[in-house]
Amino acid sequence: MKDLVAQGDSGTHVVDTFGRPLKSLRLSVTDRCNLRCRYCMPEEEYVWLPREDVLNFEELATLAGYFADVGVEKVRLTGGEPLLRRDLPRLVRLLVHDRRIREVTLTTNGVLLAEYAQELYEAGLHRVTISLDTLRPERFRRLTGRDEFARVLDGIESVGKAGFPDLKLDTVAIRGFNDDELVALIEFARQYQAEVRFIEYMDVGGANEWAMEKVLSCASILDRVGTHYGTITPLPERGSAPAQRYQLSDGTIFGIIPSTTMPFCGSCDRSRVTADGLWYLCLYAMSGVDLRQPLRRGVSAEDMREIIRTGWEARRDRGAEERKGLEQVGLRNGGLIGIDRLREDPHLEMHARGG
Ligand code: SAM
Ligand code: SF4
Ligand code: SF4
Repeated sequence: MKDLVAQGDSGTHVVDTFGRPLKSLRLSVTDRCNLRCRYCMPEEEYVWLPREDVLNFEELATLAGYFADVGVEKVRLTGGEPLLRRDLPRLVRLLVHDRRIREVTLTTNGVLLAEYAQELYEAGLHRVTISLDTLRPERFRRLTGRDEFARVLDGIESVGKAGFPDLKLDTVAIRGFNDDELVALIEFARQYQAEVRFIEYMDVGGANEWAMEKVLSCASILDRVGTHYGTITPLPERGSAPAQRYQLSDGTIFGIIPSTTMPFCGSCDRSRVTADGLWYLCLYAMSGVDLRQPLRRGVSAEDMREIIRTGWEARRDRGAEERKGLEQVGLRNGGLIGIDRLREDPHLEMHARGG
């Protein structure tokens, strides 16, 4: 066995230059979305991925299989809004059919979830994460540009009814926007036996109105939550999981994903494939490896695996840590990428590569 291979729970993982294994894949199934969250996709129109480039479900599942060959065990479906892809349960069925993929999960804004939750559960989807930034309908409309709050609530209701365990609610915590709702969101999650995870606002992409002053840091979140509830106990280390979890004295658990102030690149085992088959080794990477062309040219499975293996072995990315480094020298001002560059390349935004 090559020395650049780590032994995992269920086999071998290719490892990168820092010894990080490749275990988890985020498959962005579409760059389209039915919301326009200000921190992600504030413009109405974008340069969309050409339809003919978007991979069909068989192609996506074939790619996921090559990733499983080199050690990927978890696949998260994301986007854009993944439920805009018609018949998503069929993709889930294709993915769970591969027993090496132990977990297939979905991140959704929840708007269309009530329609599909049961079918997704029956297709074998393991868990669902719903993004929910506010409990106030008017604020929701201002944040997302759409009046869909009631449908998101229906989506949240539908998860437990369909039989899914372990619902997670992901909240981007933004100073001056929803920092007065942290406690309300913890209470709300509790009603659904869900766990809320506060995500620090990230400067991925460019049209996302990011500014350091809007980042509600992990420390500030703990401070505010602690002021209301008292003692907060950190749960054991997060390993490669992005969320640090905390427990309140009544047993309620919540999480924080401190991507901006305390990045976790050192243990990052994730990469992303866009809907048109570009493979990004990091959320902040400026370019990706084109897997669509070789896939459609009929390159052999062995060669596809080799492209992935050598790509990961050469990986040096630690985007969030580098962004943090810039902050220390006063150079972290605004989004990652200029607006003109974004207009030229639709892959550079968060909604194309998945969060
Ligand atoms: N549309 C789906 C949703 O909203 O759940 C899936 C795609 S979305 C890009 C995935 C996650 O990225 C969401 O939880 C979203 O809140 C998060 N996200 C988007 N832009 C972000 C930013 N600038 N900072 C932090 N999180 C962000
Ligand atoms: Fe909002 Fe998700 Fe759509 Fe981005 S992709 S605009 S986070 S719903
Ligand atoms: Fe991983 Fe890149 Fe995110 Fe760091 S910034 S945790 S390397 S995806």
